[in-house]
Amino acid sequence: MAFKPANEIQDLQYFGEFGGVNPSISDSSTYTFLSAKTMFDTFEGNADGCYLYSRHSTPSNLYLGEALAAMEGTETANVAASGMGAITPTLLQLCAAGDHIISSRTIYGGTYAFLKNFAPKLGITTTFVDITDIDAVTAAIKDTTKVLYCESVSNPLLEIADLQALSHLSRKNNLKLVVDNTFSPLSISPAKQGADIVIHSLTKFINGSSDAVGGVVCGSQEFIDNLRNVNDGASMLLGPSMDSLRAASVLKNMRTLHIRMKQHSHNAMYLAKCFEADGLRTVYPGLKSHPSHEIFKKMMNTEYGFGGMLTIDVGSLEKANALMELMQERNLGYLAVSLGFYKTLFSAPGTSTSSEIPEQEQIEMGLTDGLIRFSVGLDNDIERTYKIMKKCMEELQILEPLLA
Ligand code: PLP
Repeated sequence: MAFKPANEIQDLQYFGEFGGVNPSISDSSTYTFLSAKTMFDTFEGNADGCYLYSRHSTPSNLYLGEALAAMEGTETANVAASGMGAITPTLLQLCAAGDHIISSRTIYGGTYAFLKNFAPKLGITTTFVDITDIDAVTAAIKDTTKVLYCESVSNPLLEIADLQALSHLSRKNNLKLVVDNTFSPLSISPAKQGADIVIHSLTKFINGSSDAVGGVVCGSQEFIDNLRNVNDGASMLLGPSMDSLRAASVLKNMRTLHIRMKQHSHNAMYLAKCFEADGLRTVYPGLKSHPSHEIFKKMMNTEYGFGGMLTIDVGSLEKANALMELMQERNLGYLAVSLGFYKTLFSAPGTSTSSEIPEQEQIEMGLTDGLIRFSVGLDNDIERTYKIMKKCMEELQILEPLLA
């Protein structure tokens, strides 16, 4: 039977301490004990249901973690203060000095910078590959390789990782497949495709309000326990803990994620089809012209669509900047990084979210100057939005004016 991630979230039941329909927020950094022995057992992780100190865990963070684990179909999850606060401890938990990571070369700029510039200081090296080329991934495996890292839908080029093939490869070679699913929550369930660990920046679609940063690692109980171990757990010791008040607000926003994702996907599909028909170079996994359209289809939970992210290439950075400024002036969205907001957000990744990637490497991976990344909003009337966008493009001679 098809996996229904939104049902899994909806079926969870929580009550507040006075019977409230929302769980009470745990507004404390530390917790008292009636017995010193229970305190010791809790510190050692042997007293289920007891809390000691809020960097370790809090009821509010556990509720949110449970909902995210239900959504991804993993045993459990650990929430973090940001997406990077989920990614970096995960990689540091899985790798030690001398170990090697294989990563997709098209990933979020911050993750790229961590792997390229920071992890080598700890003796962890990375080979960046074209993740859609399984032969290239296979060829990069070494005796010391521990992790295969990718994004289900990559930032910003929207390349699609064939998770079944990558999972097969990682199992055969005893690697952990770590997948960042930030761009495709609900649409793709990486753990169901064989990923060992699924990560999100909650900052984006899952929270959906652009009012907070957050992250999560979804995985096996054993791995999450390792991350939280007081002696050598990377999440515990590096300390990127989410605040309970924020965890409670993210949980409330998450309950409408399925409705929002359907609308983001509907609107993005509409715009992608129109842009492509207008002759713009358009990348959207829902278009038949996308090289991995069929792979996305094979993996997807159909009802949520192909997601809210698309890119177009308008030829040059000058044109991209002019178009984004004009679209903002016409109230079509905001010139801003990040994604998953109710308004459309647009940015030129080469000079913003992927600027950590050196220019030559940007060229090699096809990250062109004129690329605009759209996080398509929840517009009620996407036809009207498109008409105004088209007019902006005609005014800037990105598209030939209709009556010219
Ligand atoms: N992963 C992806 C795909 C992202 O786009 C981002 C941020 O843009 C991150 C991870 C990092 O998340 P955060 O900014 O919440 O640390």
